[in-house]
Amino acid sequence: MSEIIFDFTGNPFVDAGIWSISAWTKKNLNELNKKDLKGIIDDIVKLYLTKKWSKNIYSIFPNNPITNPSVKNKDERYLGILNELIDGIVPLGKSGDCISCGRRDIAQRSGKDKIPLTGSGKLINYFSYGVDGADYCPACAFAVQFSPLIMYACGKLLLIHSNSEKVMKIWSRKAIKNIDKQLSTGEFTGCFNEKYTNPKNALFHIIQDIVLEYDVRWIKEAPSINCYHFTNYNQGPDLDIYHVPTPIFKFLAYVPQHEKFEDWLRIVRRGYRFVDWEKVKEENEYKNNPNTVYENLLIGKSIIRFFIDRKNKEAIGGWDLLSHYLEEVRNMDEKRIDAIKKVGDELADYIKAADDIKTLKKLETANNYRNYRNLLRIIIKKRIEKGTENPLFSFDDYVNNLFPEGNLTWRETQDLILFRIYEVLHDWIIQQGISEELMVEEEEAEAENV
Ligand SMILES: [Zn+2]
Repeated sequence: MSEIIFDFTGNPFVDAGIWSISAWTKKNLNELNKKDLKGIIDDIVKLYLTKKWSKNIYSIFPNNPITNPSVKNKDERYLGILNELIDGIVPLGKSGDCISCGRRDIAQRSGKDKIPLTGSGKLINYFSYGVDGADYCPACAFAVQFSPLIMYACGKLLLIHSNSEKVMKIWSRKAIKNIDKQLSTGEFTGCFNEKYTNPKNALFHIIQDIVLEYDVRWIKEAPSINCYHFTNYNQGPDLDIYHVPTPIFKFLAYVPQHEKFEDWLRIVRRGYRFVDWEKVKEENEYKNNPNTVYENLLIGKSIIRFFIDRKNKEAIGGWDLLSHYLEEVRNMDEKRIDAIKKVGDELADYIKAADDIKTLKKLETANNYRNYRNLLRIIIKKRIEKGTENPLFSFDDYVNNLFPEGNLTWRETQDLILFRIYEVLHDWIIQQGISEELMVEEEEAEAENV
């Protein structure tokens, strides 16, 4: 019979604990045995008793012996609980009533002193059916005790959970490395802390670190990430959940390899709100400001406008990076992307050849679908008058690719065409000089695009 104790459960607290133990012991999940578990508890209880860690633990397991002021022999009491859990552990079976692994039975229901965000006593938090605590088997309850080791301090605490073993492995190794540093320097700073207080920005920072530092073929791995920003603090338990779907992760993993990676960083910077860039000296001054690029990615809204610098007539990142975003994240059809690019090229050719920079201004400022269509009609006429042979676009392109949902998507098409014109004509426009007439109020343009 299998002697395996731990396997992925899908429960974020339990999985975090299992990965913590695996990273701490430097053993694979399925190699862990009871002796390994007995071997780590002394060190970890010692760590939890340091000042900063015990403060974190207070927000995770209120009323456990570490944080309960009325408990005198804290280490002894907590070690007693942990030893009892280890003694109750049996290998994974085929079924059981544990709500986490489902492959073992519970010995005793756990309250919020052992399992965050469950109920106990009069404080029944998030647990359904209103029962006191939750049904976790000893192995899962034990694992949860180690989940703080890979939590991230961010105002409240961030718990990262992914379907990808690679992500979990990388993240847990990284967090434990931070603890190793705390141990070797004797400076105990609590849960991994890089001075983030904005959980969304922290999440993207963590993902960027993971994809920058580790050479993994993420295309094959297809990870998604859930992030739980929570506190189990007695007076006000709270939870926010953020989800990074696979296409966004894959896009973020792809960008650092792109030749325009620096431009992507610029696009992200353009997303920060309330920053006086003239005065900024270092990242810490703005890294916790709200960022619309990150926020839009998390709620499935477009970030196209951040690729377009209307003021300086610049296409940031170039067509290749933008089209990658459109395909991967916006799920845009390749044919539509190519058709828009082609029209952008034709329009750029026309504007330059006819020396007609006023048309550019009109393309920038058209503010409804009807005006925009009329404008294209006028350009088509002018092109024919000038003897251009190939049409600006075919009827099929018009219906299927340029304005497939008419009023709903015309603005997106307008932005993409503009992006392409800026890309092709940037130097020429600058040579013409951006006259007052051509100045687009950035704020006005942004408001329109919301
Ligand atoms: Zn279990």
